Amino acid sequence: MNFPKQINVECVFCGSTEFLLPYEGFQPSENELLQCANCGRINCYSDIRDLAIRNINSEIHEQLHKILKKAGFKVKK
Ligand SMILES: [Zn+2]
Repeated sequence: MNFPKQINVECVFCGSTEFLLPYEGFQPSENELLQCANCGRINCYSDIRDLAIRNINSEIHEQLHKILKKAGFKVKK
């Protein structure tokens, strides 16, 4: 099973993954405000991070489904 290696946060407005960071390797804290490098709008880091985590969870869920189906289990949607 392929777990995503890293969480890609996306701008909630345009979906860009590029943000204007004060320096390379900057780690935003919980309620940091990040400006999108593409559309210039402000995202709250905790919001876009939660969103990214939700996306990853559904991806893992889907992969689990496929594995169980292949193994002959009946999975309900
Ligand atoms: Zn944007």
